[in-house]
Amino acid sequence: MSAALIEVRDLGRSFGTRKRRIWAVDGVSFRVPERDILCLVGESGCGKTTTGKVIAGLLRPSEGEVLFEGQDIWAMDKQAFKRYRTAVQLIHQDPYASLNPMQRIYDVITAPLFRHNLVSSRAHAWERCIELFNIVGLTPPEDLLRKHPHELSGGQRQRVSVARALTVNPSFIVADEAVSMVDVSIRVSLLTMLGRLRNEFGLTFLFITHDLALAKYFAWEGRIAVMYVGSMVEVADTPRLVNEPLHPYTQALLSAVPEADPELTRNKQRVPLRSQDIPSLLDLPPGCRFHPRCPRYVEGWCDVERPALYDTGDGRQVSCHVVAREMGLV
Ligand code: SF4
Repeated sequence: MSAALIEVRDLGRSFGTRKRRIWAVDGVSFRVPERDILCLVGESGCGKTTTGKVIAGLLRPSEGEVLFEGQDIWAMDKQAFKRYRTAVQLIHQDPYASLNPMQRIYDVITAPLFRHNLVSSRAHAWERCIELFNIVGLTPPEDLLRKHPHELSGGQRQRVSVARALTVNPSFIVADEAVSMVDVSIRVSLLTMLGRLRNEFGLTFLFITHDLALAKYFAWEGRIAVMYVGSMVEVADTPRLVNEPLHPYTQALLSAVPEADPELTRNKQRVPLRSQDIPSLLDLPPGCRFHPRCPRYVEGWCDVERPALYDTGDGRQVSCHVVAREMGLV
């Protein structure tokens, strides 16, 4: 197994007061080898964004560890943590909210360049901006650099966010719903650009999305981890997860993805769920968190015992009692 650039072990993150805590992420573990892509997929509120923020070093975990090149990031000294925060860059969902509306794009891009002493003069900074804008496909760079964020389209703003992330030469990108707020027609070109950057600069990606179709497209050569109400339910190589999903929740998600052909979508067999209601983090069901909705639920087992994340022995992991029993894992 290749060495992990990022590894998350038994990660938990809670919010609230001492009297009442809500676990947004609970017992999540995964590893992302260098130059790989891991997609975190799940419904909104399942803990994907919190996981991304913990990995980016913006939130401290309540439990568990985040390892970067084998080192616990919260046990690092100040210098090493600073290097980590530079190596891992977050691209936000909303490029408008993440760019200061009062700043010109030139200032947005050059602030990290000057802060990290990556340029020696204003002329050097201008040169580097032009180079970065060419890399992310923003043309003509000279015009765009003089503008403010509100003068740019959604797609251009997101490319500016990517250019800003690249200023500090990162090795790991956390892209949180990075294309979900832009027009559908622009999404593919943004994803293609991110894929090209991965190849050109050897970047490793944690790509967070609620859209399984996007995950399928972007991470076909990588892996998908499916989250449900704060927990990880299945992890597998993308083709296997898409073609042979093991967990009933993954099967339900895939059965709800529309196909390009409307006839195929109409005739697609949906996995019938016992309930459409997603449980609240304030009132989690006992046992398996998916049991109130699961079509394969076994009374007295699924509602009592929380399933572990079982290693299937063929590179996949699944958190389900019934699947684990069928595969001879328990
Ligand atoms: Fe469904 Fe039980 Fe598996 Fe949970 S453990 S996914 S309830 S079959």
